[in-house]
Amino acid sequence: MKAAIFDAPHKMHIGEWQQPSLGTDDVMVKVSAAGICAGDLYIYTGKNPYTTYPVIGGHEVCGVVADAGSGAKTFHCGQAVVIEPFLSCGKCFPCREGKPNCCSNLEIIGVHRPGGYAEYVVVPQDHLFAMPAGLTPLWASFAEPVTIAIHACRRGEIKRGDYVLILGCGPIGLALIEVAIVRGARVVAVDVLDSRLRTAHALGAEVIKNDGHLLEQVLAMTHGEGAAVVVEATGNVNIMESTADLVAAGGKIVIVGLVAKGIKVQFPGLDFTRKEMTIVGSRTEVGCFPEALDLLASGRIQYPKYATVFELWSAPDVFSDLTRNPGSVHKGVFVFQ
Ligand SMILES: [Zn+2]
Ligand SMILES: [Zn+2]
Repeated sequence: MKAAIFDAPHKMHIGEWQQPSLGTDDVMVKVSAAGICAGDLYIYTGKNPYTTYPVIGGHEVCGVVADAGSGAKTFHCGQAVVIEPFLSCGKCFPCREGKPNCCSNLEIIGVHRPGGYAEYVVVPQDHLFAMPAGLTPLWASFAEPVTIAIHACRRGEIKRGDYVLILGCGPIGLALIEVAIVRGARVVAVDVLDSRLRTAHALGAEVIKNDGHLLEQVLAMTHGEGAAVVVEATGNVNIMESTADLVAAGGKIVIVGLVAKGIKVQFPGLDFTRKEMTIVGSRTEVGCFPEALDLLASGRIQYPKYATVFELWSAPDVFSDLTRNPGSVHKGVFVFQ
């Protein structure tokens, strides 16, 4: 089959890849759309520590069932489906604790296994969801990033009336804005780029341009209290460290952004007790696909409107351009015509 293949850092080509074989419970999905995630850019640039090259990226994928193993009877050929790309072992401690997203043996389709930047991708049938009627492949490919936002909002226990500060308006930040608004929060989004802030505002957030006076502005908006929930979606160490000041006493910090391996993040120790803040990490998602598909199908998530569509067989140029200028699009998606 034809695929866009990451060969090594900054090396990618369009070529032939052996068509994957089907296990008993597997489904062969003919790809319709595959989003471009920061994780894919990390594979391209060599910053993803979990990848061994060559690999086919793409974990934000939807398509149509083309074939199925003898035990895979849930979906029929021709049915439109969305892929949940996170495969957990079911045996390790986090799996036993109901946190398969933290599985010690986690495998991600498009990172550890061949992903959706190809004509076909093989997926266990219990990692597929029927695509709701009325959703286009472009919109359905947003299910995975929306699940990341849903999981982060669940981790932060975001509720009606909470002042929620979202740091970073990249693809995940924009999804976070809409999911937090659905939960009835007062959402304030922060970024340094005007283009991103315009989109954040169009999606319903109040916005603050981070020009070095963020803390003063947040305190002014909250009668000096700080944010009930701060969600970190930049991966920038300085911003991450500022969350301890931005959060209200008794509030919560949710860390979604990734820092590079080995990088330390410091927090003022006294504030752990003085403010009794809760700091939680948020990794991928657990069981969030049904809600994500429902939010997309019902029109309560609108940020796919701001996606830029690319042709998959131009992927080597697209990745080279996006690496040089990551702020040039809100979100790129490869769509098969
Ligand atoms: Zn992703
Ligand atoms: Zn496990």
